Amino acid sequence: MTHILHRHCHSQLPTVTCGDGIYLFDQQGKQYLDGCGGAAVSNLGHSHTAVKKAMIEQIESIPFAHTGFFTNQASEELATLLTDLAPEPLNHVYFVSGGSEAVESALKMARQYFVEIGKPSKTQFIARRQSYHGNTLGALAVGGNEWRREKFTPLLSEVTHISPCYAYRDQQDNESELDYSLRVANELETEILALGAENVMAFVAEPVVGATAGALPATKGYFKRIREICDKYDVLLILDEVMCGIGRTGTFYAFEQDQIVPDLVTIAKGLGAGYQPIGGVVISDKIYDAIAHGSGFFQHGHTFMAHPVACAAALATVQTIVSESLLDKVQEQGKKLRTKLKESLLPLSYVGDIRGRGLFIGIELVADKQTKTPLPTSTEANKVVKQLAMKHGLMCYPMAGTINGRAGHHILLAPPFIINDKQLDELVSKLKTALVEAAQGWA
Ligand code: PLP
Repeated sequence: MTHILHRHCHSQLPTVTCGDGIYLFDQQGKQYLDGCGGAAVSNLGHSHTAVKKAMIEQIESIPFAHTGFFTNQASEELATLLTDLAPEPLNHVYFVSGGSEAVESALKMARQYFVEIGKPSKTQFIARRQSYHGNTLGALAVGGNEWRREKFTPLLSEVTHISPCYAYRDQQDNESELDYSLRVANELETEILALGAENVMAFVAEPVVGATAGALPATKGYFKRIREICDKYDVLLILDEVMCGIGRTGTFYAFEQDQIVPDLVTIAKGLGAGYQPIGGVVISDKIYDAIAHGSGFFQHGHTFMAHPVACAAALATVQTIVSESLLDKVQEQGKKLRTKLKESLLPLSYVGDIRGRGLFIGIELVADKQTKTPLPTSTEANKVVKQLAMKHGLMCYPMAGTINGRAGHHILLAPPFIINDKQLDELVSKLKTALVEAAQGWA
């Protein structure tokens, strides 16, 4: 009997015993190719020597010292590196222990910013329907993922949700990409005006939507227009890169590909590459200055923030991404993987769309390719595909979600950046086997 409350109380999970590169092994010695980095976490695979060494050295020097008393070298160096990799004016970092904490911190930072500059009426967030920002109450409130919110709705503060940028489903036949981008982005302006700009604090969005849409990038021009609208109405732009950041899409920050600079960026997952739990908020000068030269104290904090071992692991991770030119590798292998997936899976009648950026790839399953009718929830495709993939020795991240209020199924792929060509073939082949077997239940 287990004494752990597992995510799924009654599921029989294999016990993991060790990892080697992009593979994990269970107690029976069965090998699993990690095709999703867990949940876009394990960017360097499971046995990276430099990261392990950095952690051991940190534990041997100083494993923990509370940030109320000390700073530490690993966190200082990590902040310097993360801001060197970010465009101006993103010059500051706040470290926490994970993605939800990062989002909570960014939400509170936005609020405190407006209090500090004398605009306390700004209290409302706007976010998008197809989004996930974490499971703590503040993060869950901004997220648009209906099934995750459902049981907790009475506890969630009111947040307005606008349409996601979801060209596969919503771009009209006679509409250019740019026209579509402007049409959906302009929903933000309509919503700000409806709420009153003096009441709106920030717009929150994932540059590439992960857990609710299987790697869904925005179309060209969308975020440029969003940035213009935010500037016009003094609304902060918070981009959640917990899943898509730290090189996953082929640039260090995903927003770089949208040619804009946000006010706050949340990061986590790939930052510690799974070797340690760590998250952060990258902060622009405007917000830092308002707090630092205002009250001088950010009214927040967690015991384990800027944890030395977590920061040492993250520092070694980011240094490896830079020194081994892994962003180039992500772009190269990502292109190959998308091509291979399209060749192998798009001919299947229930694979509607394959999309993404870098090694962050989404596969959308449909009941009918022509009408794009989503696969019904009753197929439980997410559970079946996951089980069959595991049976065939592959970890992938299938999910059931809602697509603008309709049921839908996606598979997210986010393999480690070190995946080689042979392993790409193995991933595609195992995924196809699992999908074809799963589809016997619905095709
Ligand atoms: N934000 C995004 C975009 C995420 O994908 C996630 C997790 O999947 C979170 C926030 C929450 O992160 P965590 O699970 O580390 O709390």
